[in-house]
Amino acid sequence: MELDPANPYSLRLPRPNYLPHNVDADEPVVKKFIKPLYRPSDMENAAYLNKIKHFAHEYGITKPKGSKVSFHYNAEMEKYHFGEHHPMKPWRLTLTKSLVSAYGMNFAMDNYTSRAATYEELTSFHTDDYIDHLATVAPQPQPLDVENNNPDLRFNLGGSDCPLFEGLYNYCSMSAGASFDAARKICSNQSDIAIAWGGGLHHAKKAEASGFCYINDIVIAILQLLRIHARVLYIDIDVHHGDGVEEAFFSTDRVMTVSFHKYDPQYFFPGTGALEDNGPKSEHNPGAHHAINVPLNDGITDEQYSKLFESVISKVIEKFRPGAIALQCGADSLAGDRLGRFNLLVEGHASCVEFCKKLNIPLVIFGGGGYTPRNVARAWAYETAVAIGQHKNIPTQIPIHTVWRDRFKNESLLPTIHQILGEPRQNRNTQKRLTEIVQHVTEQLRFVNAAPSVQMSVIPPDLGPIRDEVEQRMKEETEERDELGRKLREEGMGDRMELS
Ligand SMILES: [Zn+2]
Repeated sequence: MELDPANPYSLRLPRPNYLPHNVDADEPVVKKFIKPLYRPSDMENAAYLNKIKHFAHEYGITKPKGSKVSFHYNAEMEKYHFGEHHPMKPWRLTLTKSLVSAYGMNFAMDNYTSRAATYEELTSFHTDDYIDHLATVAPQPQPLDVENNNPDLRFNLGGSDCPLFEGLYNYCSMSAGASFDAARKICSNQSDIAIAWGGGLHHAKKAEASGFCYINDIVIAILQLLRIHARVLYIDIDVHHGDGVEEAFFSTDRVMTVSFHKYDPQYFFPGTGALEDNGPKSEHNPGAHHAINVPLNDGITDEQYSKLFESVISKVIEKFRPGAIALQCGADSLAGDRLGRFNLLVEGHASCVEFCKKLNIPLVIFGGGGYTPRNVARAWAYETAVAIGQHKNIPTQIPIHTVWRDRFKNESLLPTIHQILGEPRQNRNTQKRLTEIVQHVTEQLRFVNAAPSVQMSVIPPDLGPIRDEVEQRMKEETEERDELGRKLREEGMGDRMELS
């Protein structure tokens, strides 16, 4: 297949992007609990609360000083499922919550039960006809492409990748609602780090579902951040290319997207995200050079990955100077993932979160891919610990009182590569290639204006109202500054230099 250089998105693999359906159905839980889940009594809940209180007290898990972390979660999301054999298991959220709560981390955060996103919020990015369809389409008990190799899928809905399961619209709007709320907390300065593990669905397009993603909650959240922040940096550490987010902000210089992913244009979804794809080719388009892609091969290790992440992101920060960061933490880049191909351990994956946290820039953290639920839960729980600054403090042995503890297979929060894989995957990333990547990124960034002022002359039409709002704010800021200057001059106080 040839890639059309004018449209890097022309190459979308039309068929399911994951392994055939007969691979291990790893977590049989969905089937097992078709009957209503056992509900703990008030007494049992009170006893559990006591245990985690003690635990939090013993390990000093309290709200971090000098930074506010918020946790945005809607437990209703756990009830849905994409179909027994579909790799995406909302059950991974149940396991994540179980670990986060067992470690007493909720005592260190502001916890919000997020609401579902409204129609208006969803259509801040998606088209009305797509959302209307999503809201009204009937569920399909069986994906439409199971017996038909060439089904007519409206908006790419109804196939094995993006099946029409019961309650789909509710599920999607809850995922988007949590991410939206997280972004709002950042905008209102009520949080420094806002976590939404139920979001991160980076493949969804404006009017098309893709790669298990129906609603692009990240784009919706970034649109919120752009109301307040002149520039937002999007970082994506999912094993797949963050194509939906890249495409949404293709033509603006207010969002820079950086995606680290396995790249294989023929055999690995979505087939986009080559090193040379850096946004629009025309220098007149403000989005030119504002998409950074880091294509990787199978088997990359913690050491290589975190080094590469730090070199790329520190260069990007230096040049782009974002006001906020949106970090997608897809956990399918971990070793042992059902779809992923890397050798990353929780520590390596989390080092990216640690690095972003140290930058002291408002940060929204999203979930994303991740198809071996126990590994996903480990990573996202540990990354929550990073956010609250407790990752070095908590015991690595999973607490005894953890609900579903037996599902983790290994008692450690940080299992070794041998415990996970036996033999690590062959590493196909040479040092030479990684050096070339950093050189290419450095070269791209030379074309990016250093911290462009918000002149926002050309941005996608959808951002119109937001642009007006930010422009108005910038105008007011300038006026305020001028006003202050005038007052100081009037009072004969000169500028700040003379004052000090
Ligand atoms: Zn993924």
